[in-house]
Amino acid sequence: MDPSRPVIEDAAVLVEGERISAVDQFDALRHLSDGAEIIGSTEQWLMPGFVNAHHHGAAAGGSFRKGGADGPLERQLLAGHSSITYKGFGRFAYLNTLWLAGELIRSGVTCTTDFYYGAEEPPYLTCENGLQAYQQSGMRVAFIPVARECGSYVHGDDEVFLAGLPTELASRARELGLGRQPNVSQEVFVDCWKRIHDDFNGYEGRIQVFLGPDGPQWVSADYLRAIKNLAGAYGTGIQIHLLETRYEMLYGPRVLGQSVSEFLEGIGFLGPEVSGAHSVWLTDRDIEIYARTGTSAVHNPVSNLRLSSGISPVAPMLASGINVAVGTDSFGMNDDNDYICDLRLAAYLQRTPGIASTGLPSAQVLEMGTVNGAKALLLEGEVGSIRPGMKADLILLDTERMTSPVVHPGIPPEDIVVHRGMGQDVNTVIINGQVVMADREILTFDESKVKEELRIEAARAWESTKQAEQERQDTVREVEPYVVDYFESWDSSSLPARYQYNTR
Ligand SMILES: [Zn+2]
Repeated sequence: MDPSRPVIEDAAVLVEGERISAVDQFDALRHLSDGAEIIGSTEQWLMPGFVNAHHHGAAAGGSFRKGGADGPLERQLLAGHSSITYKGFGRFAYLNTLWLAGELIRSGVTCTTDFYYGAEEPPYLTCENGLQAYQQSGMRVAFIPVARECGSYVHGDDEVFLAGLPTELASRARELGLGRQPNVSQEVFVDCWKRIHDDFNGYEGRIQVFLGPDGPQWVSADYLRAIKNLAGAYGTGIQIHLLETRYEMLYGPRVLGQSVSEFLEGIGFLGPEVSGAHSVWLTDRDIEIYARTGTSAVHNPVSNLRLSSGISPVAPMLASGINVAVGTDSFGMNDDNDYICDLRLAAYLQRTPGIASTGLPSAQVLEMGTVNGAKALLLEGEVGSIRPGMKADLILLDTERMTSPVVHPGIPPEDIVVHRGMGQDVNTVIINGQVVMADREILTFDESKVKEELRIEAARAWESTKQAEQERQDTVREVEPYVVDYFESWDSSSLPARYQYNTR
């Protein structure tokens, strides 16, 4: 959204190649552009496409689709990432990423992140499966190969944790290689990341390769410094899971002797090229640190509720000048993958009880989904609003359902989109000047063929790993109570509440 001209009636946008060349009244542009194809009608609204600023494509575990657990993050991580079913099924990862890109396109997303968990396998850490899907899909992506090296079971030393298990269970867990994967050494990661960057970054002007340290509890300070330096050398961005759960918050004082954000600021890690995915458990001091360092926050409203993580302090962060973007966090934590519905939830979560409660204006919510996302992904001035010179990442919304049966003519369109919009209202999607969906039909790949092949690949994967998977999941269930005990011993009831919904 362009804050100076939020809504224009009878408008048109002239697109030449990848970019917008003019924005004006329809009649004026029609003269200028004789012979140009006309897309859209007076029954539709044109908007900048949405930027899904935190998302995992095919490679994250823990979903209904993959058979993982559905519970609080720390339990989900143990179960979901222990799955071996999809390892070695590169075609499945490709198809799944492609299908998910289609789902996102259908809900009006023109640019996504993909925080991609591959394997410790040169040359590309198996990221080529996801990247090839983005090449095919037409989607703009900040692709983020994940760097992680420790904390497979808990936020702490795996060996110390395993030593607390009955000996037989610990050796079975070790033998089966349970726990969150992959762990990739700094040396292998840096080498592979450079290759991924060299071979995929800049593809058709719509693929960026970012860096993704999984979280401060999963990567050493040295590794984080190396990643920061690499980002500087390559002029690229970094995304990191940050303060997602109360245990991630407690990890700071318990293990680092200071809050996680203080620690990251102290090692020179934070900055405008860094975005903190989730950012739920921030103290006022953490908010100051984000604001001071120019670090973006990515809010994932559905995932934060689904995984019992909590409510992110979005309104206080925005009030402090922090750039807050919005992400779906993928199908694993958000099965409908409907970006517009997620924006609505983001808006409503800030409507705290009380007569003075104001919530967030709809225009600001849409900005979080567009311009703020662009800024978090270092695409400020390139995508996220509709101005001449910017990339043509545009969506057309059908107004019929949103305004049915009637809506008072005085209600602004941005309120209608935020309160009534759904992914199904997106009719046409243009990315980088290319029409990738027209009249709700994806044009860049055959969705029904992908679905069919995905079902065949999934059945093959399930069948061939059934026995081994069962053994692993049984062991996961035995280990899980120890994980719960571990974190329960950290719990502190003295944490002050930021949001209060009712009393008892
Ligand atoms: Zn995530």
